[in-house]
Amino acid sequence: MRVAVGLVLCMLLASIPISSAQSDSKEEEAWPGDPIDSHVHMTWAALTLEVNGWADDYPEIVELADVGKSELGRSLWVVRISDWSIDNKSDGSAKEVVYIDGGHHGNEYLGTALAWLSAKWYINGWAEGNQEAIDVLQSTVLHILIMLNPDGNDIDTRWNINQVDLNRNYDHYWNTCPTTQPGSSAFSESETAANAAYMNAEVADADLYVTMHTGVWIMLYPWGKWPEQPADWELYHQIRDDVNDNISSIPIQNANQGLYPNCGTSRDYGYGVMGYPTFTFETDDEQFIPGSFENLNDRLAEEMDVMRYLINNVWYWRARLDVQSLEVSDNEVTIDVANHGQASTSNATLQYLDSSGQITWTSSAFTVNATNSTMITLDTGGLDYGGDGSWQMYYQVRVINASRWVTEEIGIQAVTLIEEGDASFLTGFGLFNSLTTIISIIGLAVVMKPEDEDLAENCLAEIQEN
Ligand SMILES: [Zn+2]
Repeated sequence: MRVAVGLVLCMLLASIPISSAQSDSKEEEAWPGDPIDSHVHMTWAALTLEVNGWADDYPEIVELADVGKSELGRSLWVVRISDWSIDNKSDGSAKEVVYIDGGHHGNEYLGTALAWLSAKWYINGWAEGNQEAIDVLQSTVLHILIMLNPDGNDIDTRWNINQVDLNRNYDHYWNTCPTTQPGSSAFSESETAANAAYMNAEVADADLYVTMHTGVWIMLYPWGKWPEQPADWELYHQIRDDVNDNISSIPIQNANQGLYPNCGTSRDYGYGVMGYPTFTFETDDEQFIPGSFENLNDRLAEEMDVMRYLINNVWYWRARLDVQSLEVSDNEVTIDVANHGQASTSNATLQYLDSSGQITWTSSAFTVNATNSTMITLDTGGLDYGGDGSWQMYYQVRVINASRWVTEEIGIQAVTLIEEGDASFLTGFGLFNSLTTIISIIGLAVVMKPEDEDLAENCLAEIQEN
């Protein structure tokens, strides 16, 4: 059980220059804090030195952003990590985006440490030539806000300096559950307002958001507000099963059922308003062994295995429609569409653009289930098909209403108008008549499998708090 540290002691600690010697690699793995009671505490000042050091030492992959201030004026640092020598992925598409935050609750150090380690693992890995880290940073931008509540952190309290529970202060069904200290209104606190502003301005395209806490060893997905499964339950269940079968026995549950009803959380906001696949990652409450200074990489190895799986596979955490063939006849168009992603989409449409790029026709909406392939025939009433235009898909990347819309071209360079007698061209597609257009595009599937890991023992501690 944690023991609160007195204000005076903490203020003293905050003023002591914390050693962040970076001279040898063992020290680089160490959490830049001091042992206090039964845990290791890192002040905001120590974190500030640390993250500035990362940006100074590794400008090729680290960018530091001051994205807002705490109520007492301390900077909220976001560490952005990617291989900045590469603008896009090797296939030309945009890099994947991952958002991670920690430290909503100022006395949950191990959760904050997991956010810290999620940055450090990739920085160290890249510097040491670890291929997984190199590959991730070439294809992904990690945005990590390690300490959201520096004022509460430095006085060892759950709350921020206004005695508000920041993880009840978000604008998603704010103050509609039995809860304490949610603030005077949604986003009344500068810390949560800054976090939401960052989500909307900088990481709106993220396909993964993980918010880190300490309490009971569990991963929680939406909703906290309701006991019902979320619209994207297939995605969450697939991730749960993958993790439990291959990586860790950590329980993965709907937050309302796995913990208790909670409203105005960053998790429910991240999913319900931003449309991200979102997890609350709760480390256990054992913090650190008194008198020892465990290597954080060892202490949180299993949790990092789960994080690496979520990050390695971020490409799959949305719908990924891939039109295999498209056939136009007088009254209808038939498409063979595969979904390589693990999320379903229920609002997909096919659109036709004329030669000037104007959308001149949109099909009725259709559904494509996760990791599925389906043949869909759509009525072409109203389509003025000139043959010199192009086709595109327009769809939501997940089922949740808030999820973002994407427009994806259907390989315009592959458009071929098939004249009568050209049927031999169609060999292999199977669907044609005398006047048919076949479009095919190359699937983007990248097969990545998580490493098999021994199942860890489930050491579920008693439920304490979120
Ligand atoms: Zn918490």
